[in-house]
Parts: sequence; structure tokens; C-alpha cells
Amino acid sequence: MIYLNGKFVPIEQAYVPVLDRGFIFGDGVYEVIPVYSRKPFRLAEHLHRLQHSLNGIRLKNPYTDEQWHTLVEQIIACNEGDDQYLYLHITRGVAKRDHAFPAGISSTVFIMSNPLLTPPQELLLTGVPAITAQDNRWGRCDIKAISLLPNVLLRQLAVDSGAMETILLRDGFLTEGAASNIFIVKNNVLLTPPKSHLMLPGITYDVVLELAQTNAIPHEVRVVSEEELRTAEEVLLTSSTKEVMPIVSLDGKTIGDGKPGAMFKQLNQLYQQYKAATMRGGDAVVSLK
Ligand code: PMP
Repeated sequence: MIYLNGKFVPIEQAYVPVLDRGFIFGDGVYEVIPVYSRKPFRLAEHLHRLQHSLNGIRLKNPYTDEQWHTLVEQIIACNEGDDQYLYLHITRGVAKRDHAFPAGISSTVFIMSNPLLTPPQELLLTGVPAITAQDNRWGRCDIKAISLLPNVLLRQLAVDSGAMETILLRDGFLTEGAASNIFIVKNNVLLTPPKSHLMLPGITYDVVLELAQTNAIPHEVRVVSEEELRTAEEVLLTSSTKEVMPIVSLDGKTIGDGKPGAMFKQLNQLYQQYKAATMRGGDAVVSLK
């Protein structure tokens, strides 16, 4: 069952008019929210980022946070599986084709749920390959826009070469992955680029930095050069559906000793503990000590 403009319907019966500006222009924003044991993970933060994206495209939020909470609860309840991921999608609505904003229309709101399949244990034990590419996206990558053509093309480069992710470089600096944020380890310090218009402010990125802070893991948020990425001891990717994953090769060259490193193991353990605590409604922050 999906939600479309006020109704819960089976996905096969859900239709959007061809003049929807999402279809015509990619004029909309979205969110992806993981659900563990039927509880949405970091919902407030996802709704906050959704508001940021809506502000970025000058579209009024169709619902209050309270209404979003209710819809999220309802969509979780009417779908199978304890672990799901929710996809929320808002477009500027349906209007005669013209680039400028149409007056007096309401936005299209679509929510669906799919089973959440976190990465298999095997991949966490072996690590995964990644490639690099020039970041040729627009200058507002902080907006989670549904117009994802550059990300689609960049991600396909990874698939074409049997890699898990494409890591993006702009003007000689690391930005993020085609669908993830990137951390590296250099001299045992966890490094990641600061939030800016050039990357999506990841919810998982925030969790990892909070865990590093709470557990006194040496870390620094600062620009990371291509050279530092290529000579890193470890490279990690983070996202809501992939959680924390170890990258063990870059453009066919081994990173470190080619195995998931100590930083990955510690952060992944902390992340899994944090998730479990959140689901129990327990400690907001977990320390291994
Ligand atoms: N950057 C990009 C471009 C993404 O698409 C995503 C999400 N798939 C992320 C970063 C990670 O964000 P989050 O941790 O909120 O899933």
C-alpha cells in the first residue's frame, strides 16, 4: 500500500497525471527514512532535512510535522516487514507545462515503503570496491532533489565496473558518493568534508560524527583532498540504507591492507548498538566504554 495525495491505495492503482511537474521537470524533493522494528529511525532529522529541501526549491511543506508523523505511522502499519525503508516524494503538482511556478495548485505527495535490506554480513567482512569520477552535479547538492540524472549516470559508472559506489571529486577535493557520504582515515584520524552546498547533509553522516564524538574517536571535519583519499588508510561510506560500509579498493588500487580496518569495525559496532538502543527507546547516545 502506498500513500498518494490523501489516499492509501495498492501501488498498482496509483497514478500521477503526465503533466505532474515531477514527471516534466523533476521539480520536487524526497526523503528516504529507514524503519527498524517498525520504528522510524531519526524521523525528526529526516523531516528537518525535508523542510530544508522544500525551502531550497521554494515549495511550501504540505503537512505539519505532526501530520507527517501520522502518515509515517500509517504507512509502516499497512506494509509487511519490521524493517522497511520509506520513500517520501513531494512535487510542485500538476499544471500546464511552463518552467515558472504555476499559481494556485497543490503539490503531489507520494509515500511508499519497501523492505529494508541492509548490506549482507559477507560484504562487511570483505569490504567493497569503489571508483572515482568528477563531480559534475549542480551547485545545490544539499537539496535532496528528485532530479537525480547526474547521480544516476555517476552511480551507473560504478555498476558498469563492478564497484559498489562512485566517489566524487570536485576541483581536487572529495565531496561525497553518488548516493552516500564518504569518510576516510588518515594517521588514525577519521576525516570527512564539512557540510556545504556541494553535498547532501547525510543523516547517517551525523550519526557517525556523533558516535565519534561520544566515544572519543579522533576525528576532524575538514576538506579532504584527492591525494588524501587515494592514500587513506581506510575509506568508509555511509547512508540510511547501507549504514556504514568499508571500501577496500579505489579505481582498482587497494586501500590500506585491502581489508576492512579497525575504524570501520569500531564505528559499525557503535552504529549497530546505537540502532538497537534507539529501537528500545533507550539511550540516545551509546558509548562502548
Ligand atoms: N549523499 C547522497 C548523494 C545520497 O543520495 C545519500 C542518500 N542515499 C547520502 C549522501 C546519505 O544520506 P543519508 O545518510 O541521509 O541516507
